[in-house]
Amino acid sequence: MFKKVEPTMNFVPIEEKVLDFWNREQVFKKSIENRKDAPNYVFYEGPPTANGMPHAGHVLTRVVKDLIPRYKTMTGFRVDRKAGWDTHGLPVELEVEKQLGISGKPQIENYGVEDFIKKCKNSVFTYEQEWRKMTERVGFWIDMDNPYVTYHNTYIESVWWALKRIWEKGLLYKGNKVVPYCPRCGTSLSSHEVAQGYKEVEDPSVFAKFPVAGEENTYFLVWTTTPWTLPSNVALAVKDNYIYVKVEHNGEKLILAEGRLEVLDGEYTIIDKFPGEKLVSIKYEPIFPFFEDEKDRAYYVVAADFVTLDDGTGIVHIAPAFGEDDSRVGQKYGFPVLQPVDAQGKFTEEVSPWEGMFVKDADKGILKDLKNRNILYKSQKYKHSYPFCWRCDTPLLYYGRSSWFIKTTAIREKLLEINKGINWHPEHIRDGRFGNFLENVIDWCLSRERYWGTPLNIWICDDCGHQHAVGSIQELKEMSKEPFEDIELHKPYVDDVTLECPKCGSDMKRVPEVIDCWFDSGAMPFAQYHYPFENEDYFDKHFPADFISEAIDQTRGWFYSLLVISTLLFDKSPYKNVLVMGHILDEQGIKMSKHKGNVLDPWKVLDEQGADAMRWYLYVASPPWSPSRFYQDAVSESQRRFLGTLWNVYSFFVLYANIDDFDPKQYSLDPTDRSEMDRWLLSKVNSVNKKVRQEMDNLDITSAARTMESLIDDISNWYVRRSRERYWKSDMDNDKIAAYLT
Ligand SMILES: [Zn+2]
Ligand SMILES: [Zn+2]
Repeated sequence: MFKKVEPTMNFVPIEEKVLDFWNREQVFKKSIENRKDAPNYVFYEGPPTANGMPHAGHVLTRVVKDLIPRYKTMTGFRVDRKAGWDTHGLPVELEVEKQLGISGKPQIENYGVEDFIKKCKNSVFTYEQEWRKMTERVGFWIDMDNPYVTYHNTYIESVWWALKRIWEKGLLYKGNKVVPYCPRCGTSLSSHEVAQGYKEVEDPSVFAKFPVAGEENTYFLVWTTTPWTLPSNVALAVKDNYIYVKVEHNGEKLILAEGRLEVLDGEYTIIDKFPGEKLVSIKYEPIFPFFEDEKDRAYYVVAADFVTLDDGTGIVHIAPAFGEDDSRVGQKYGFPVLQPVDAQGKFTEEVSPWEGMFVKDADKGILKDLKNRNILYKSQKYKHSYPFCWRCDTPLLYYGRSSWFIKTTAIREKLLEINKGINWHPEHIRDGRFGNFLENVIDWCLSRERYWGTPLNIWICDDCGHQHAVGSIQELKEMSKEPFEDIELHKPYVDDVTLECPKCGSDMKRVPEVIDCWFDSGAMPFAQYHYPFENEDYFDKHFPADFISEAIDQTRGWFYSLLVISTLLFDKSPYKNVLVMGHILDEQGIKMSKHKGNVLDPWKVLDEQGADAMRWYLYVASPPWSPSRFYQDAVSESQRRFLGTLWNVYSFFVLYANIDDFDPKQYSLDPTDRSEMDRWLLSKVNSVNKKVRQEMDNLDITSAARTMESLIDDISNWYVRRSRERYWKSDMDNDKIAAYLT
C-alpha cells in the first residue's frame, strides 16, 4: 500500500519533518563523509556579516548557493562547504558607535580603543542565530559549526603572510595620493568601496570669473561643482589645441572655449579668437585672499589633456589637494598644495569666514560671497552622481592623504588575461562590468585609519626609517624587544610590540593603520584553512573553487578582491565558475530597500508557502542574474503550477493504486510491450533527465527548472488526462499494469 496523500497541500509541516530528519540523522555531514574518495567539487562561501539581520537578498543567494553544490553532491562529487563570517571593518565599528552613542574618532579615543574593539568583537555575532535559523530553514547545507572567522588570530596570521609576500614583491607601498575620503569615518576608502556608494544628487554648478592680471574688466570664465575647493585654487587649465574666444558680454570681457559659448545667457560679441596655447602662462588674480603668500608660485594658466568640451567652459579650476588630475598637474608645475580642510572635512583657520564648517555646508556661503564681490557669473543646480560613504552615507571628499597602496596597476594585464579564463554567468559580465573595472584598475588603497580590522603588519624604525613586514606570530616573537607568550593580533595590543631594527638596533613601531576588510574576505581561499601554517595539502586540493556565487555588486567587492589577491600570490584565478545574482525587487519591480519600506520579510513566505515553493519560484521565474520580483502571490502561483500539479498527479496515482492494491514490485513490463503513450512519456522522462543535467552542468538553473516544469505539465495535461480511463478499468490487464508502471 502507498501512503495516502492528503488532498490539502500543506507543505510547511512536511518541510519541517524533513529538516528534522536531516538534523537528527546528520544527513549533510553524511553526504560528505560517504564520498570520501569521490572527486572534489570546490565551493567557497562569500562571508556575510552577522551584525545585521539576513534579508530577502540573502535568501536568494543562499538558495542558489545551495542548489549547485547539492546537485553536484547528487551526481557523485564530494562538496565540502565551510561557512564564513566577515567580521572586521567600518560596518561593525559604526554599529558600535551608534550603540555607545558616540560618533567619530576623537570620541572613540576618549572611550578607549581596547574597550571599543572588545565591543566590536562582541557585536559581530549579534544575529548569528537568525542567520543560522534562516540558513537551515531555506535548506542551505553548509557547515556553520566550523566557520572561518576573519577576526580570528589564525585568519589574521594568514592575511599577514599574504601581505608580507606582496610587500616582498615591492607591490605594497606608502604614497601620497588624492583618495576618496569619508570625513565622518575619518578614513580613506578604496575605489571598489566608492563604486558601491554612488547616488544622484544636486550640487551647485558655479560659473566664476577669475580676473586676468593686468587686463581691466577681463575674466576667465571657470566652471565647478565643488565651490568649497575654490579657496584652494592654484591654477587654471586649458587644452592647447582647442579654440578659445574673448567675448564682449554684459559690459565685460570673458574668455572661454568657443565650443562652450552656449553657457552664456544672452547676447555676446566675439572680439578675439585663438588656440588654447596662447593662454598658457597668463597670470590671473586669486579670487580668495587666504593664500596671498603663494602668489609667486601659482595663479597662472597651464595646458592639460584632461580638459574637455563636454561641460563647463573649457577652462578648468585646479586644486591639487582635492583632485587626482589636479594633483598631477600640481606636481608637474610645482604648485603648492593648499589643504585648508581638516580630517573631519571642516575648514581650518586659513579660511576664516567658514572656519569649523563642513565644507559642503559652506558652499552656500561661498557662493554668496562670490556674488557680493561680483565674480559670480551664474550658479545653477546640477544633477550628477556623486559618491557617498557606503557605510555611513556621508558625501565623500577627495583629499590628498598619505595611505598604503597595493600596486594593482602593475598586474593589470595579468588580471585581464586571467579574467578571460573565468566562466562568468551571465557571460557578458566578463568583458562588461567586471572587465571594464579591471581595465581601469587603479592602485588599491589598502590602509584604513580606523581601529577594528586586521592591523597593517608593517613596522618602521624610529631612527633609520627601515621598514619591515611581519609575516607570522613566530616572526613577531623573534623580533620583539620584549618577550611575550600570547598576543591578540588587533589594535591596541600589536601597537605595543616594539621590534628591534635589524639595520641599526633601534626601536621599530608599527604603522597605526588597519587594512580594508575587503582584503580579509578576498584572502579566504587560503586564510580559511590557516594556510600556509596548516592544511597545506587540503588547500592544494581545494584551490581554486569550481563554483562561487554572490550578488552583482560583488563585481566591485568580493569577486574583485579574491581575484587580485590570488593573482598576486598564486598567479591564477581563485574561481573557475561564478554565478552573478541580480537584485530582489518588489511586486512593482522596485528594488527592495529598508529606506523605501518595501521589504518583504522572507519569513512570511517561509511560514506560509514554505521553502520549496520559494526556492522553486526563485529558480524558475527568471535567470538568477536578472532582477527578480519577489512577492507572495507570485510564489503561490508558481507553487500551484509546479508543486501542486506534481502533488495532484501523485495523489491520483496513489488513490487508484491503493484501490487495486497495486504492488509495483510484482510486475515488470518491457517498454516495447507498452502503449505508444507510455513509451512517449518514458522517452520524455529520459530526455528531460539528460537535458536537465546538461543545463545544470552549465549552471543554467532557470532552463533546468523550466524543463522540469514542462515535464510535469506534460504528465498531468497529456499523459494522465489521456490515460485516466486505463486506471478506472476493473481488470488488471497488461494495459493497466503498463499505466501504473509508467
Ligand atoms: Zn563614512
Ligand atoms: Zn633602524
